[in-house]
Amino acid sequence: MKLKRIFNAAALLLIAVMTQAQTMPPLPMDKAVRMGKLDNGLTYYVRQNGWPEKRVNFYIAQRVGSIQENDDQRGLAHFLEHMAFNGSENFKGNEVIEYTRSLGVNFGSDLNAYTSIDRTVYRICDVPSTRIEALDSCLLILKDWSNGLLLEADEIDKERGVIHEEWRLRSSASQRMFERNLPTLYPGSKYGHRMPIGLMEIIDNFKPEVLRAYYHKWYRPDNQAIIVIGDIDVDRTEAKIKELFEGIKLEENRAMVEREPVPDNAEPIIVVDKDKEQQFNIVMLMFKHDATPNEEKGNMMYLLEGYVKSMSTSMLNQRLSEKAQEADCPYLQASASDEEYLFSSTKDAFSLTVIPKEGKTIEALASALREAQRAVQFGFNASEYVRVRSEYLSQLDKIYTNREKRNNAIFGDECTEHFLDNEPILSIEDQKMLMEQIAPNIPVEAINQVLPELISKNDSNLVIVSFNTEKEGTVYPTKEEFLSAINTVRGEQLEAYVDNVKNEPLIAKLPKKGKIKSEKENAKFGYKELTLSNGARVILKKTDYKADEIQMLAISKGGNSLLGENDIVNSKLFSAVTASSGLGEFDNQELEKALAGIQASANLSMSNLHEMVSGNCVPKDVETMMQLVYLNFTNIKKDEKAYNSMVNMIETMLKNRSLTPETAFADSVSATVYMHNPRFLNIDAEDLKKLDYDRCLQIAKERTANAADFTFFFVGNFDEATLRPLIEQYIASLPGNPKKKENWKPVSTYAKGNVINKFTRKMETPKAQARMMWYNLEQPYTLENAILADAAGQVLDMIYLKKIREEASAAYSAGAAGSATLGGDTPYTALIGVCPMKPEMADEAVKIMREEIENMTKTVDADMLKKIKEALVKDHETNAKKNSYWMDVISDFDELGVDKHSDYLSIVQSLTPEKISRFVKDVILAGGNHVEVVMLPEE
Ligand SMILES: [Zn+2]
Repeated sequence: MKLKRIFNAAALLLIAVMTQAQTMPPLPMDKAVRMGKLDNGLTYYVRQNGWPEKRVNFYIAQRVGSIQENDDQRGLAHFLEHMAFNGSENFKGNEVIEYTRSLGVNFGSDLNAYTSIDRTVYRICDVPSTRIEALDSCLLILKDWSNGLLLEADEIDKERGVIHEEWRLRSSASQRMFERNLPTLYPGSKYGHRMPIGLMEIIDNFKPEVLRAYYHKWYRPDNQAIIVIGDIDVDRTEAKIKELFEGIKLEENRAMVEREPVPDNAEPIIVVDKDKEQQFNIVMLMFKHDATPNEEKGNMMYLLEGYVKSMSTSMLNQRLSEKAQEADCPYLQASASDEEYLFSSTKDAFSLTVIPKEGKTIEALASALREAQRAVQFGFNASEYVRVRSEYLSQLDKIYTNREKRNNAIFGDECTEHFLDNEPILSIEDQKMLMEQIAPNIPVEAINQVLPELISKNDSNLVIVSFNTEKEGTVYPTKEEFLSAINTVRGEQLEAYVDNVKNEPLIAKLPKKGKIKSEKENAKFGYKELTLSNGARVILKKTDYKADEIQMLAISKGGNSLLGENDIVNSKLFSAVTASSGLGEFDNQELEKALAGIQASANLSMSNLHEMVSGNCVPKDVETMMQLVYLNFTNIKKDEKAYNSMVNMIETMLKNRSLTPETAFADSVSATVYMHNPRFLNIDAEDLKKLDYDRCLQIAKERTANAADFTFFFVGNFDEATLRPLIEQYIASLPGNPKKKENWKPVSTYAKGNVINKFTRKMETPKAQARMMWYNLEQPYTLENAILADAAGQVLDMIYLKKIREEASAAYSAGAAGSATLGGDTPYTALIGVCPMKPEMADEAVKIMREEIENMTKTVDADMLKKIKEALVKDHETNAKKNSYWMDVISDFDELGVDKHSDYLSIVQSLTPEKISRFVKDVILAGGNHVEVVMLPEE
């Protein structure tokens, strides 16, 4: 296609700049990755990575998914993925789950898998590298997954119900509409009939041989890659992979994995559908085009192609969101992208995704297309390009700055994409070096040639998808209306876009500096505490966990609790209102433009008991963050345009929110637990009438009037010598009165005693849900109780999963969690169980939920607790190397004098089954409060 020509032009320019080479140079592969292929076709990737310390991630990626299924196997690629956790040669029954748990690896978050149309990927993450046998055992699990699954008939039968319930859980309005229109969206292609979840009549009835046939046909070394990333010995790991996998034989007569083509469509494909549970209308316009073939992804051209496409869609997106703020804009939100056509890797599409204002679907789509056409006709301005390019390079620089501390998962994904889609693995050093040479040498004129190639001038390869809320009296858009609107826009003579920017400093006149008056050290947590001339306190905790991060939190007591009944809606939407406002002389859009290329932010928000300004930046942009903090305290600018656009968006989202059973259930839970206290209810569209912009700005002023009532925490990689004068300039200069201190008022209301709320509801797909809470409102917070609650919650979680999912097949997921809150207005220690269940088995699931907590008062499985302790210790080690963890620990210590850190590990080590039993009995159940909310489908 012609796109290539543009890239060639840009590429020639690039070659002239960079090298004397006559052809496109290949992209250099990251040297830190050891990649190889065994004789039987198995590919492997091994990479040493020291962050987090002593942790390893294991993956097996398969180049097959639901597209390889025969007609009688629909849903079995995904079914097979489940069976990987239900018995293999070396790990019988659920031993994979139990064994990895003994290493502190959580099933679900660390141990998991996914199946999509053309890939199936399994992973075991965050395995401690301290025991070498454990690493070998994880490789053995990968080996079992690759060709040692048992696929026993009785285990298969037990899993049918689980998958059927997964289908139910995932059945939403958009899922239903997508699924039934797939054959229309993919005419003449298998993609139209291979949704990974499959057909329930097959899931419920297939014979085990049909699943085994898929497994043996497709799970083979030539379709598989083993990926190991982390704190490991690369040579040893590679040798071990060879030893384990070399013996697997590759059959002579094997089926090849064919890439499924997506045919072009001469006539436009237009899908208009509706569903009673769809919460808002959405419309997508797509122009299909060929994806870059895998063989062509290895050279510089591909890097260029990605860059110029992302620059042009970023600029278009900026214009689309600016347009959305105009009062007469028919859409609420619109965005452009160029990526896979729906879910096919062989075909891409340039897409516009639009959320229209009610009744304006056609106009909304036309309006978004008009902006794209404007860019096609006149191109983008140099000023727009400078902004997106500097933002791109600045984000790249952020990653580069933190290059020594990138998580294993980033490299795991890189290798997975390389194996499955031949995406390049470029080191961050190479990427930065190349892009800093390339980007400044590609002019806006070259970028301006991209959109005219992506946006087709005729209707071939055109696809429109319009999903609507089904309601009586609604008139839905028609195919003819869409086509005629598109044709009209194509013929319009437009005017060029004008880029309005403010080229001024954020703060025109600097405030008079204050002073750091006194300072002291806190030896326990290694921080410095400064008191400023205006009475504000500043706490500095320097860390080196992330080279690219400084976190800031300014917090003060008060919050919503000091506001009356009339301000409940204002307080609930307070953060959304401040976020859509401007600062200083800059309105919302001008501010966004002014901050392009700068990685710094600060926002004012409010919770029930506090108001706070939260900030974040890279070290080099710390002064900008300080200016944003200063402006949040002193000068939030009213921006009616941005405000109205935000309110319109929220209104549309709220208007139909109770249409889905999930939100209706969540609303019932809050209403029941908080006894209909309006402060704790979710807001609805009606409430928006009470939202008052001026009053919100007044609240913002009042809540930030006294800096002396705030403590400012800085955690991260700051340079103290740089930060101190900035603190004097931007914090000590804020108005402050040390004599005035505020406190919050108690506002919480919890249901007491035994409360049961069981209700039915009409649904498109029958679903049932239960939520159970047991809590104590008298027991003051202690760290030990918080840890006991956490551990007890995890025990209950394991029991529910085993009894409700594995044994009863009554749900896809069932879980529990425990917590004790520090710093609320009412002490609160609780265990909570949740279960989206099979309607016919609701009574049984609910009975198990109730009985199992009672059983915990008598006995707790010692082996379960041992595994949970392992996970708690491991998670704690990981958390203690995060800035957010220290922000939390230090701010709680400062406000409440409670140390959540120092005794954590010793308390975890001291946990026993008896202690957990006693805690559930004497704290949780003795609290005497039990709330149970159950939703069932109406017959
Ligand atoms: Zn699943």
